[in-house]
Amino acid sequence: MVAAREPSQKVHTYKDIEFTLKKSERKTTSIYIERDGSVSVLAPKPFDMERVQATLEKKRSWIYRNLAEWEDLNRTRVHREYVNGESFLYLGRRYQLELVKTQGVPLALKQGKFCLVKDLVPKAERYFQEFYKNKLKPRLDERIDQYAPRLGVSPRRVKVMELKNRWGSCSATGMINVHWKCAMLPLSVLDYIVVHELSHIENPNHTPAFWRAVEKALPNYEEQKKWLKFNGAGMSL
Ligand SMILES: [Zn+2]
Repeated sequence: MVAAREPSQKVHTYKDIEFTLKKSERKTTSIYIERDGSVSVLAPKPFDMERVQATLEKKRSWIYRNLAEWEDLNRTRVHREYVNGESFLYLGRRYQLELVKTQGVPLALKQGKFCLVKDLVPKAERYFQEFYKNKLKPRLDERIDQYAPRLGVSPRRVKVMELKNRWGSCSATGMINVHWKCAMLPLSVLDYIVVHELSHIENPNHTPAFWRAVEKALPNYEEQKKWLKFNGAGMSL
């Protein structure tokens, strides 16, 4: 896997896992996949290498699964130049970019084109993110309202945000977070993410009961799941 790292951090190796050690305030040893796809081990000081290695061994399959997911999301990161004719996804469709001199807002979807004020190109990424966030929230709320009663659950809060390497997440207390990138997905795939996270309210893990709940609310979920696995990687700003 390809990952950028802070040059100052010492990289340790355990079998084929590269990791950096960080001091934990707590007595427990835990593992994180960082935003750049590197592995960090949080451990109390002084570092006990045997304990660190034992934790890595125990969490091996978890680490591999998460690194694979991270790579899926970042493998084909698009390089953006924000020039006329470049295409951007919105709800599963591609729209071309047109740079304009002026308009009421920095970025708007008008007559089948993404129109961006030319002078604001240096901040284009931010405006696209804002556009996606603002457009996604009401759609997401609408989908939640549709599917939550079918699953017999009610989330405590739903938020659109930057989620690093996940499309969505659901906390034990029923708070659902969805990545703003979901605004790029076709609505049928967004539905799968909504149903997936709603199903986690009652089933925190991916158990057979969890998948049964997903299937009950969304009988064709396998199709959407595959679509996401296959196409999700290339979706970035
Ligand atoms: Zn899940």
